[in-house]
Amino acid sequence: MLISTLVKFFYLLGAVAFVWGLRLLSSPDSARRGNILAGIGMGIAILGALIEPIANANNNYLWIIVGLIVGGVIGWLAAKKIQMTAMPQMVSVFNGLGGACATVLAAAELTKFYDSEAIMTTGELGIAVFTLLIGAISFTGSMLAYGKLDGKIQDKNVILPRHGVINLILLIIVAVLFVWLTIQGQQAGMTLAGVFLLLALIYGVSFVAPIGGADMPVVISLLNSFTGIGAAAAGLIYGNQIMLVGGILVGAAGTILTVLMCDAMNRSLLNVIIGGFGSAATGGGTDSGDQVAKVATVNDVAIQMFYANSVMFVPGYGLAVAQAQKTVKELDDLLEANGVDVKYAIHPVAGRMPGHMNVLLAEADVPYPKLLDLEDANAALKDTDTVIIVGANDVVNPAALDDPSSPIYGMPVLEVWNAKNIIVLKRSMSAGYAGIQNPLFFHDKNRMLFGDAKDSIQKLVQEVKNM
Ligand code: NDP
Repeated sequence: MLISTLVKFFYLLGAVAFVWGLRLLSSPDSARRGNILAGIGMGIAILGALIEPIANANNNYLWIIVGLIVGGVIGWLAAKKIQMTAMPQMVSVFNGLGGACATVLAAAELTKFYDSEAIMTTGELGIAVFTLLIGAISFTGSMLAYGKLDGKIQDKNVILPRHGVINLILLIIVAVLFVWLTIQGQQAGMTLAGVFLLLALIYGVSFVAPIGGADMPVVISLLNSFTGIGAAAAGLIYGNQIMLVGGILVGAAGTILTVLMCDAMNRSLLNVIIGGFGSAATGGGTDSGDQVAKVATVNDVAIQMFYANSVMFVPGYGLAVAQAQKTVKELDDLLEANGVDVKYAIHPVAGRMPGHMNVLLAEADVPYPKLLDLEDANAALKDTDTVIIVGANDVVNPAALDDPSSPIYGMPVLEVWNAKNIIVLKRSMSAGYAGIQNPLFFHDKNRMLFGDAKDSIQKLVQEVKNM
């Protein structure tokens, strides 16, 4: 009795910490505290789960502790070792493993059911089969997303002819099997449940395969919501409140993010899933024809910034690769000290994970009010003297607005060409994630400052200091 009250109390504390942590995550100023609080909440929840089996004579403490040590060591080492630039990939892997956990839990319960060691009502069976399904899709889908984000897997290598039709057929088979397994109960048998699991795993890969390029942010948030829903469903199987609450929070947050990302891309979810928009396989080359981009020197750019009234930085994935955020902040401070108004334009899909740029700039202590979202930035760009694009490419590509044949046509972008001058900091003329050429580089107002972004900005800092 005492144990069960204590467990409930721990779960309640954990749930409060999750909700409060999530609330703090909504602002960059408090996000770090929010993350720590949610982590503490998870610790309390784990403690609750650990004391739960005390009253049970057949508890599996040995297995639990071995699992905790193995998982804890792997998680600790991975978090320590992973570079900031590989964070999106790590998030994908962790998300996938969450899905795998839900599937394993459901598989364990279903095995007991098919072996006649446990009884389930039709509702409970339906939840268990659903958990098996959604966790499996999230697992293999996230692993493929990891491969794509890491550059190990190219979109064109995983897209089959008539992929949309294959996906639809797979989805129908999986849906029919789901209903069959639920209504047939034990008669359906473990073998059929195994086939169902295998098809769900295949569907996860097949579902993510054709979604690529500029649509990746949507699929990442969608997989995130799948894992949350899977965890919540697993919580239902076990009647475990903290799993249910945690799962619902992750599932809801992932769903809201999916809607926001769809809005940012100006696309419906269905369109993303069946469209294959932005995947490198849909077209878009890197051929620049005979156009030549104008090149700037560090000295030109420093003078232009120093004497400007307003400067807008546009960070992109290259900022993360170069780890240039703190150097950008140093340059920002120098310019502000000279009376220049400095702002940052944040595109919702810049970088490789939702909120990527916000995280980097918060790490560099850039004050939040300086960050403008897409709409505000586009309004402010008209009155901006100089735009400095730091390793961004797709999010400033005018083809999204004026070239119907472009794979990113329809995606809202930062309209940097409305500013008086544009400077692009990147290492070469290479394409961005969507694999397409950017006509901005050949725009009259634009000049390229080639080199690693951190290196170029360090040089700019020196030049500005010498002025
Ligand atoms: P892009 O991927 O379009 O472009 C990044 C640019 O950074 C490249 O062209 C590269 O050019 C340059 N770069 C790389 N390393 C450096 C460096 N060390 N110094 C300077 N420049 C560098 O980035 P954007 O942020 O503009 O767009 C994000 C893209 O990623 C979108 O297509 C989005 O849909 C997609 N995506 C976004 C996700 C998200 O959740 N935010 C998830 C998955 C995909 P070069 O090699 O010449 O230096």
